[in-house]
Amino acid sequence: MKLANYVCGQWQQGAGGGEALLDPVTGEELARVSSENIDAGAMLEFARRHGGPALRALSYAQRADLLAKVAEVLAANRAEYFRISLLNSGATEADASFDVDGAIYTMKYYAKAGRALGDGAMLKEGAVVALSKTGAFLGQHFLMPRQGAAVFINAFNFPAWGFCEKAAPAWLSGVPVVVKPASATAWLTQRMVEDVVKAQILPEGALSILCGAARDLLQHVREEDVICFTGSAQTGMRIRSHPNVLARSVRVNIEADSINSTILGPDGAPGSDVFDLLVKEVVREMTLKTGQKCTAIRRILVPRAQLKAVGDAIAAKLASVKVGNPRNPEVKIGPVVNKAQQAACLKGIAQLKNECTVVFGGDDNFQPIDADAQRAAFVQPTLLACNDGLSAGAVHDVEVFGPAATLVAYDSTGDLIALARRGLGSLVGSIFSNDAPFVEQTVLGIGDLHGRVLVVDSSVGAQHTGHGNVVPSCLHGGPGRAGGGEEAAGLRALLFYHQRMVVQGPSARIADLAARCTDAALLYV
Ligand code: NAP
Repeated sequence: MKLANYVCGQWQQGAGGGEALLDPVTGEELARVSSENIDAGAMLEFARRHGGPALRALSYAQRADLLAKVAEVLAANRAEYFRISLLNSGATEADASFDVDGAIYTMKYYAKAGRALGDGAMLKEGAVVALSKTGAFLGQHFLMPRQGAAVFINAFNFPAWGFCEKAAPAWLSGVPVVVKPASATAWLTQRMVEDVVKAQILPEGALSILCGAARDLLQHVREEDVICFTGSAQTGMRIRSHPNVLARSVRVNIEADSINSTILGPDGAPGSDVFDLLVKEVVREMTLKTGQKCTAIRRILVPRAQLKAVGDAIAAKLASVKVGNPRNPEVKIGPVVNKAQQAACLKGIAQLKNECTVVFGGDDNFQPIDADAQRAAFVQPTLLACNDGLSAGAVHDVEVFGPAATLVAYDSTGDLIALARRGLGSLVGSIFSNDAPFVEQTVLGIGDLHGRVLVVDSSVGAQHTGHGNVVPSCLHGGPGRAGGGEEAAGLRALLFYHQRMVVQGPSARIADLAARCTDAALLYV
């Protein structure tokens, strides 16, 4: 089966043999993708000429209704998405839910939030600016929906959520979507697109999909387009520095990898609430989606006196987690997505072993349940420990995109802050502590190098939303190594798909334009 591309309002097969999508447990071929001979330039032009104008003929509220219908279609096909997630990603039920239900929830969230934007055609930002003594000549800032296409280049680990969290704010803004999922897991995104296209909810050109390599896609982007990329920092750099992207100043958002840390406060003695909550969260982060989350905990920063106790507690929990074929209902950790990712994880763990001791796992030849270790792409959950974090290199630099994390001892709050900052820009950091001055000092010390900081104390307990969980109402993204991007953050996400500009002119003309607007202040409520 070769997955078709949806381009210029038609299903088109790419040429040649394409690239195989495999079951990471059995190694069996499931489907193929090819973007060969697909005209990416024509695809983008069709989106700009047909999809964009049709979407922008609707108001924000009308487009919000479209999102609600898309969410309904996706919800109706949820079982099929779980089946594909199991086959192509080796996802357990919980893993598939995180991606698929997360996608549907996000689409519904934007459908609901978007209704508040009402009948406007664009957004008016702030009050008028007086530019003449009489008030006859004024300035008004506007946010205009971009008239280009939104190009999404996505990572393999969130084929459902990665598509929907980007598509929802783009459509709500009136911008057509061209999605290029990662080849390895393109099947799920392609199936979702097929279902939405079949349902005939969106205008022609509002949604296109390119399955397979990006090829010359970036050669065809223009000044009014936007690119939203999620993936490794290395690919992100290539996209950001593409000559056509640079020459045309195409707006780019990059969500890249990140060496996220969780922090146990000095009050986190064994038996305390915060100790137990941190241990639980680390195990959740290492096991859910087999640690293949950009937000997953990679470094566990703990007071030196607690290094052993935290390590023992996490190791004890990991020892009881079953790793193997996700078709076995007892299994909690499935494989990583393919042999290449398995090799990359094992290489990363080997690098970490050079400066760390192994607390749990780390066996390259470990035997998963109900699977042939030779054919399958498993990585044993691995916990490492580092005594001298300030001198370490790989601990702060190597992202093992799998079920691995490293404990790092700290001696003072100053050292802790320096250690967390060695991530050089992270999506998320979390702090487990009841020590208010410590929490405040740490948030202030690391905040500028983080997109999100999660603080958990005894008053919150298990009610927190999770270290690695991205909620659509709050910012997702991070500075530096994390890519410097911003997604979600509620309706603030629409800013990316609008151009801020000012009209300076006669007060009557400004009033005419303002009458067509929704107040941009609604993006911030
Ligand atoms: P990747 O290898 O960087 O690929 C990401 C996407 O870029 C894929 O669709 C890939 O297509 C495409 N691509 C590769 N080279 C390209 C080029 N020269 N021009 C245009 N597109 C190109 O990343 P991945 O292995 O799929 O994903 C894992 C990484 O993503 C991890 O490092 C993880 O931390 C990060 N991630 C970050 C976030 C976040 O929100 N910050 C979320 C999830 C994952 P092909 O698949 O066809 O090669």
